Amino acid sequence: MPTSRDDPQPSSTARPQRIETSERLFAEAQQVLPGGVSSPVRAFKAVGGTPRFIERGAGPYLFDADGNRYVDYVMSYGPLIAGHAHPRIVQALQEAAMRGTSFGAPTQLETELARRIQVAMPSLELLRFVSSGTEATMSALRVARAFTGRDAIVKVEGGYHGHADGLLARAGSGALTLGVPDSPGVPAPVAAATIPVPFNDLDALESALSRVPVAAVILEPVPANMGVVLPAPGYLQAVRALTHTAGTLLIFDEVITGFRVAYGGAQGHYGIVPDLTCLGKIIGGGLPVGAYGGRRDVMSLVAPSGPVYQAGTLSGNPLAMTAGIAMLDLLAEPGVYERLERAGERLHGGLVAVARQYAVPAYGARLGSMGTLFFSATPVTDYASARAADTTIYAQFFHGMLARGVHLAPSQFEAAFVSLAHDDAVIDETLRAADETFASFAGGG
Ligand code: PMP
Repeated sequence: MPTSRDDPQPSSTARPQRIETSERLFAEAQQVLPGGVSSPVRAFKAVGGTPRFIERGAGPYLFDADGNRYVDYVMSYGPLIAGHAHPRIVQALQEAAMRGTSFGAPTQLETELARRIQVAMPSLELLRFVSSGTEATMSALRVARAFTGRDAIVKVEGGYHGHADGLLARAGSGALTLGVPDSPGVPAPVAAATIPVPFNDLDALESALSRVPVAAVILEPVPANMGVVLPAPGYLQAVRALTHTAGTLLIFDEVITGFRVAYGGAQGHYGIVPDLTCLGKIIGGGLPVGAYGGRRDVMSLVAPSGPVYQAGTLSGNPLAMTAGIAMLDLLAEPGVYERLERAGERLHGGLVAVARQYAVPAYGARLGSMGTLFFSATPVTDYASARAADTTIYAQFFHGMLARGVHLAPSQFEAAFVSLAHDDAVIDETLRAADETFASFAGGG
């Protein structure tokens, strides 16, 4: 039992934490950055308190500006599957930086990374590198619309695909956390071209596809931005069949699941061939990157081989390509996904068990190394059931864990990621922190 009291490891008892430097840095940041951050969830709005300003990361740990150490389960929201500052990636980057950081001209590195991606996901017959997941999904939709000659798209409620206008309808992640799933500033005709449907609901999808001609259905095959939600058995297969029948392209947004739930992503795990795939995060090894790709006939429409315009000054950036190659080579080694699976089960299985021990309503959803502990007594299968989770308990849990040196996402509606650097001892330390945190709830502390 990982939470045993007589475990020889030192206890993770809440330490009085000095966070004066983070507080000062946050105040300064708010003078020059909206909300003091470069991306909304980081500001701790959903849980309250002061975001920690990070000085460095190493393996499973983050160190803040006041010198506090945290076991990190945010892992930059997914990219850092090998841990912070992995020596092989750092070394590859150092060598690459010496040769120049951007050329605005092709390099062999792009072909090398593309080939590795293709080996993992053969459905990407042609692919284009961009600099973020947002660009990947936005561009995939453009090419899907051009290919089909249709405007409407279908997305899943609570799915997050970056912040392009048409994708901010019932959006998950930070938009859901901050209560702005339908952002102001999106032109009405753009919003009207997006049809949201609940996840795991085939009737709703079938009805949406029958109402208007739909260019593409875009979804995270395993949503991770309303927290992790698993597809019901057969759901993704049926989505594939329905889109095929409707002449609609199926876009898998594997920005999180790609190289995360399996080397071949969710499409490999579930054995489904989407028409287009969006990638990001892990394929850049922690540097800014994205990619979209898929069927040759569709992707051949992208400029300069076709008329659909899409470009980027830093696209295929040599540093990002180098980090991506190093990351994928590391992940291709034998036993890596087995290790990630074991670590994922140890953490997520352990968290649910500890919560239940203290009679805290808990539902765990996990696939491989990503999962979410929902504070909900009932299963979470879609946006509505995810939103029913108790965010007040989450905020309490979050702060209890943070005070005990565990850095979780500052929102119920995100995943907790384990990396290759999270060994048994690190995870067990986390479970002890959870045990103490839930115990403090019971004691009213
Ligand atoms: N798609 C998914 C599934 C994501 O999780 C994210 C970001 N969390 C994006 C797209 C957007 O990627 P980026 O933040 O790199 O623009």
